[in-house]
Amino acid sequence: MAEHELHQVHSLLLQLQDVLREKFQLEEEIETIPAALKGKEAALEEANSKYVELNDAFNRAKQDATSNSIQYDEAVRRRTESEKKVELITQQREYEAITKEIDEARIVENSYLKARNASNALVEELDGKLRAQGEECDRIKGEVEDEKAKIDGILQKKRAKIAELDQRSLEIKGEGVSDDIFQKFCKIVKNKNGLGITPIIQGQVCSGCHMILPMQFVNDVRQGTSVSEYCPYCSRILYYQEDEETIDLSDFQNEESDDFFADAISDDDFDNV
Ligand SMILES: [Zn+2]
Repeated sequence: MAEHELHQVHSLLLQLQDVLREKFQLEEEIETIPAALKGKEAALEEANSKYVELNDAFNRAKQDATSNSIQYDEAVRRRTESEKKVELITQQREYEAITKEIDEARIVENSYLKARNASNALVEELDGKLRAQGEECDRIKGEVEDEKAKIDGILQKKRAKIAELDQRSLEIKGEGVSDDIFQKFCKIVKNKNGLGITPIIQGQVCSGCHMILPMQFVNDVRQGTSVSEYCPYCSRILYYQEDEETIDLSDFQNEESDDFFADAISDDDFDNV
């Protein structure tokens, strides 16, 4: 293969790599954006279920208050009747009996009065809490809606940008990258931290994974027998640079030194290279 042709493909792949990096970055951002919304939606669900619980308690308290009120009125009526009987009494024994009846009626009346007052107070307290909780639900609901609108806007912009980058990728491909290389290269850039094409350094080392390459392989790359020679360890496309001193080694040394062995070739990288 003519040397200039080889350089052209590699230069196209380097351009494509930049476009793909930007695209994959955007795709990742799209994945993580809705996290804030999910948190707010969960908060809304919790607030709504708390409202339902409070509402149930409020209804029960109202029923209790009504029942206590009826029983209190009944106790008052009974006590008043007993008191009326006193006026008709002529004998001491009857008087003692009715006095006892009135005293007992008063005790019952007082206990219902206390219960009625307590349940009325509870109704009032729960009514206040219910209102506050209703306002809290409305507030969170408003936040969820704002967040949704905001996210929709952001997602729309990012998706539009991705469509542009896809278009740009196809333009670069059209300048001289085969279908086969294009497809494999996209997968490699995605699976290998945005680095899909990288030079051989120190005469025999893949600058993507830092493995020492077989000499025969290095010779093949050097001779340019094929436009795409894939590193046997990390699957990245390798190219040979005559003027090796110009490479900035600091980049790759920092990039993946923690993850040296994790870089070994895997089935996910691409199929049948
Ligand atoms: Zn490699």
